[in-house]
Amino acid sequence: MALRNIREIGDPVLTKRAKEVTEMTDRLRELINDMKDTLYDAQGVGLAAPQVGVLKRIVLIDVSEEQNDLHVLINPVLVETSGEQEGYEGCLSVPGKMGIVKRPSYAKAVALDENMQPTEIEGTDLLARAICHELDHLDGNLYVRLVEGELEDARPADEEEE
Ligand code: ZN
Repeated sequence: MALRNIREIGDPVLTKRAKEVTEMTDRLRELINDMKDTLYDAQGVGLAAPQVGVLKRIVLIDVSEEQNDLHVLINPVLVETSGEQEGYEGCLSVPGKMGIVKRPSYAKAVALDENMQPTEIEGTDLLARAICHELDHLDGNLYVRLVEGELEDARPADEEEE
């Protein structure tokens, strides 16, 4: 298990456009494995490669409580959205904060999986939110730009685990 350092807001790498992945390499496989460890360790629902300082179009999403529904998305493209939801959003790169963001209530993206085979992901509610949030990272966009009103201090999320 190898954890990568999560870059935080203010780091220029978070504002740059990530590049398409053209072939799977051992290095990228290692990156994806490390991103998985980092995502689960931080108890996030998604992590994009720029968040660990790598400007590649790779995102990992897992909105399950059990951390057993991992989606690895390479070169993902949003192909369909519908509806609207408004709710709190946070980001591993903006620790301790959250804010209200409007997102589609349904989102679908096409991508390649870790074997560079076509895959797709679609979902509603939290999954739709995560898809939109993570894909935004690949274009250098942080959710804080979309927050309506003030960015708030997040309640300690794992209070109940203490
Ligand atoms: Zn984020």
